[in-house]
Amino acid sequence: MDPRTAGLGQPAALRRHNLSSLLREVHVHGALSRSELASRTGLNRSTIGSLVAELASRRLVAERPPGDKAGPGRPSPLVAPLLDGPVVLAAEMATDSLAVAVVALGGTILHSARMARPRGMRSPDAEVTALGQLASGPLGALGGGQPVLAVAVAVPGLVRRDDGFVLLAPNLGWRNVPIADLVAAELALDVPVFVGNDADLATLAEHTRGAGVGQSDFLCLWGEAGIGAGIIAGGQQIGGSVGYAGEVGHMTVNPDGLPCHCGSRGCWETEAGEEALIRLAGGGPGGDARASVDQLLAAAAAGDPEALRAVTTVGHWLGIGIAGLVNVFNPGTIALGGLYARLFPFVRAIIVDEVAHRTIARPHDLVAIVRVSLGADAALVGAAELAFAPTIADPATVSRVGARRARPVAAMAALGGRAVEQSQGGELAAQRTA
Ligand SMILES: [Zn+2]
Repeated sequence: MDPRTAGLGQPAALRRHNLSSLLREVHVHGALSRSELASRTGLNRSTIGSLVAELASRRLVAERPPGDKAGPGRPSPLVAPLLDGPVVLAAEMATDSLAVAVVALGGTILHSARMARPRGMRSPDAEVTALGQLASGPLGALGGGQPVLAVAVAVPGLVRRDDGFVLLAPNLGWRNVPIADLVAAELALDVPVFVGNDADLATLAEHTRGAGVGQSDFLCLWGEAGIGAGIIAGGQQIGGSVGYAGEVGHMTVNPDGLPCHCGSRGCWETEAGEEALIRLAGGGPGGDARASVDQLLAAAAAGDPEALRAVTTVGHWLGIGIAGLVNVFNPGTIALGGLYARLFPFVRAIIVDEVAHRTIARPHDLVAIVRVSLGADAALVGAAELAFAPTIADPATVSRVGARRARPVAAMAALGGRAVEQSQGGELAAQRTA
């Protein structure tokens, strides 16, 4: 049986599945000709034509004339994501900033805004109010005929996927915050609001559009105030039983180390996190951490011995933790983001050396250690993927032009591609990695 159609006995279900496959190709890869779509999906040209017409009637894609493509025969028009069609609102509540972006299919950020926020304890209500004010700019810039399909928020904490409830966000001082409900009430857009862990969402973005494209086993390590990881194993993002997986910053690496704010001692982030870096360079807690790191990196680049010692020590601890992750997950690539992308030139060789010494034979030869490629907007891009997931899983939930709007399926929460599988079963896995 064709794996693309296994379990899809009903013609309506099969058509929904094919619409979804086609929209996913265009969303992930950008403009594609009908013949490219045919070879990627295995569908014939007339079916492609009919599906493209339906997606176009829902203003999800548009056909445009081909460019100057070489090759025999008359070039076919390109099917591209529609930039002035439906959008999602992506938001990020980071340790020291708030950001929002209006994102079109294809992952294009149309309008965005970011504002600095003080570090430390912040009231969830005040943050949500600020987020609402910040969002009014990008939302106000939207043209008519651009409905917002969904909202997704990236939060640096333990997020329960099903209802967007934040159990704990230590760097914001949050415990038990129903953030999805608060954001929904503040924005009053009458669309689903999803919430994800920032490291998970940024990793999803890197896997879809950045350093992890085409990788079935891929890890991202994000250094900010703490350490977060996103894990893709066997092509699937690992969320854990309720969504808390990836808290690698609290692996114990030094049982006799310093106390961690999580209540344990000698966690990876107390040895290799931002505070540790500043402490090792002679700085104290508190103060402007970002400015301290800027100074420290400038000093290291200028060859200052104390700064270089601090960076090297953190590099060793990073390598020790990464070696453990390599032993457990055997990833093809590990991408370093945030603080670690900035440290990368100083610590790459140290990490490679630690990994070579601390992993069993072979895995260390096979893992590439690289920098992330999407930069500071990775969590926003990942939040947009989460918000678009229900639409891509079932494009027919978006109403046709002139029709009454259909409601997206609110129950389809969770991480990006996983929503597809929850809605239609595991048979879509092969197509997701294309
Ligand atoms: Zn800890």
